[in-house]
Amino acid sequence: MDDERRDDYEKICLMCRRPESRAGKMLEMGKDICICQECLQKAMDSMRFSGISYTDLMGLTPPADQSAEKKQDPEKPDPEKKDGQEKQDETEKKESQGKGIPTISMINLSDILSGLGMGVPKQQIKKKKPKDKQPAKEFDIRSIPAPHRIKASLDEYVVGQDHAKKVISVAVYNHYKRIAAGADDVEIEKSNMLMLGPTGSGKTYLVKTLARLLDVPLAMADATSLTEAGYIGDDIESVISRLLTAADNDVERAEQGIVFIDEIDKIAKKRNANQRDVSGEAVQQGMLKLLEGSEVEVPVGAASKNAMVPMVTVNTQNILFICGGAFPGLEDIIKERLNKQASIGFLADLKDKYDEDPNLLTRVTVEDLRAFGMIPEFIGRLPIIFSLEALTKEMLVRILKEPRNAILKQYQKLLELDEVQLLIDDGALEAIAEKALEKKTGARALRSILEEFMLDIMYEIPKDENIGSVTITREYIEHTGGPLISLRSVAMLPGKA
Ligand code: ADP
Repeated sequence: MDDERRDDYEKICLMCRRPESRAGKMLEMGKDICICQECLQKAMDSMRFSGISYTDLMGLTPPADQSAEKKQDPEKPDPEKKDGQEKQDETEKKESQGKGIPTISMINLSDILSGLGMGVPKQQIKKKKPKDKQPAKEFDIRSIPAPHRIKASLDEYVVGQDHAKKVISVAVYNHYKRIAAGADDVEIEKSNMLMLGPTGSGKTYLVKTLARLLDVPLAMADATSLTEAGYIGDDIESVISRLLTAADNDVERAEQGIVFIDEIDKIAKKRNANQRDVSGEAVQQGMLKLLEGSEVEVPVGAASKNAMVPMVTVNTQNILFICGGAFPGLEDIIKERLNKQASIGFLADLKDKYDEDPNLLTRVTVEDLRAFGMIPEFIGRLPIIFSLEALTKEMLVRILKEPRNAILKQYQKLLELDEVQLLIDDGALEAIAEKALEKKTGARALRSILEEFMLDIMYEIPKDENIGSVTITREYIEHTGGPLISLRSVAMLPGKA
């Protein structure tokens, strides 16, 4: 009677509610429960793509004869089979599966569909993306190079700035030691840094070199482009997003990275501001949480948050923040304070004593920074404050020739490929340094000056294969003469050796 009633009705898919006449052959999942093949395929795909194994989920192991069963093609239409026969087969199948999950986990739909000549739609056989994550660099106390070794590596690239290199090496060493030690009863404070120094003195270069040596991701941001969330400009959390990108979207690696925020002096509190200070004090306020350590939701692979971009949470607890700035005008504040101190009592001194001091910034105190416009909470979160010296002529000369990737070495290498030796005499080095000092942009001017003179050399030399060496002279730099060119002996000519 029951069977008769069923024959009057069409089977309907439990999930998409389509009748059998539209959705195609139904699979009976139990009494009065039918699912069309499409819905079942979707359900299984979504489980497979999200890495869920139904058998694992239920704590069951698939029966050993699963493969044999697959080949059975239980749903293959057999014209000779009657309805009753089909039902009998179903019961037999259920019995044979015994310990497994009734019906679901045992059906391999792709086999069924291919048996029916339908095949599995192509886009459903998506390959899982291989995880090309690099293992995050493990910082345990032993693997962090000791401060003197960090400084020695920095010495190979950064000329002078001994004090800054020492401070930064110790701070970085302590920072990563703190990470390795993990949370303990004695909480070690974060070693965020504030770096002061004239433009072109190597602030950015120092941080870049450091990150490369330590093999940690580095994000650089300009404080001038930051504004309070909701206003035009990058919001503060975008720096974490950049760090994530630098770490190839590896959250764990990003959480141990370095964020360098340049031009930090530009977010000083605006004096006499009667509007809302969205790019000054508000940015300082907004950065407090990041500096201290908080969980930030950042978009993956995009600069801005929107509904289409997946988000991840990054904890800034172990991210090292280094802020840098030239702080123009700070010298006057320091000078004023020093003069005030010096004019009292026995210590009274000459008023213009500090006027000519090029390294006044090294005498900075937290009070000076507050007077400059940095809010106390902000400075408080940058416990390590140090400054870089203004570059002198001697330092500029050394920058030209000493660092591992010195500009001069780069040109020498280039000409070496043409088998030409590039030499430069001391007078020329000094002349370039003098020109750079005039520009007041620190070492940044060196490259542009040298480039100007190298252009002609690089253009002319390849013309004549007899040239063996070129010497840049002071006269050439001062436009009173040309470079010294010497020819190679015939035996040295390329191809005749
Ligand atoms: P800033 O202090 O303004 O951030 P940078 O770090 O960008 O200056 O310096 C500009 C360039 O000058 C660097 O790319 C680097 O090549 C060179 N430079 C600056 N200072 C030094 C230094 N102390 N040693 C070696 N190179 C330096």
